[in-house]
Amino acid sequence: MRLLVVEDEVKTGDYLKQGLSEAGFQVLLARNGLDGHHHVMTEIFDVIILDVMLPDVSGWRILESLRQANNQTPVLFLSARDSVDDRVKGLELGADDYLIKPFAFSEVLARVRTLIRRGSVQPVEDTLKVADLEIDIIKRKVMRAGQRLTLSNKEFSLLELLVRREGEVLPRSLIASQVWDMNFDSDTNVIDVAIRRLRRKVDDNFSIKLIHTIRGMGYKLEVEG
Ligand code: CA
Repeated sequence: MRLLVVEDEVKTGDYLKQGLSEAGFQVLLARNGLDGHHHVMTEIFDVIILDVMLPDVSGWRILESLRQANNQTPVLFLSARDSVDDRVKGLELGADDYLIKPFAFSEVLARVRTLIRRGSVQPVEDTLKVADLEIDIIKRKVMRAGQRLTLSNKEFSLLELLVRREGEVLPRSLIASQVWDMNFDSDTNVIDVAIRRLRRKVDDNFSIKLIHTIRGMGYKLEVEG
């Protein structure tokens, strides 16, 4: 289980990182909003713990970007201000839960565990479907409009990722780390080439296009009507 903690207060950040690591989580700590924003947009976490008051990019702004990108990772808000307005704003922006500082560590741990449980209730599917596209995860078989598509292993993984995160804009760096298991910020050409090949197989012969390029951001799979 991978957690991201975005917290500018050194003591609180260290305390959360240490405690959550000892509880068995893999914890990445971002000490400012800019780093936090970068991590949430380019990596995958099971839960994100977000401080509201950050000197550069606020927790709200980060949450807003995340939800705008259609990313539904559970977010636990840390708010120093005991104001109902703040809490309402956070929840309206799509936070899943919040804690008022100062908080007991046991409380953080309980909330994180609840969010993880809530997030993992989806049954394990063996078939993914979007419009007339059907992916059999077990047999690694892809059909579109009843027609069998032959994909390479990488193409299959790429398509599976796009379908699982349907409607979400996936940055090239995220695709790189998920499909190629590597970090490359510079050589994104590999991804563009793979997408082009995948598109030829998945979209070229069909009137409804599923794979879309989002200029300057990445790719997404969506039925646009
Ligand atoms: Ca703060």
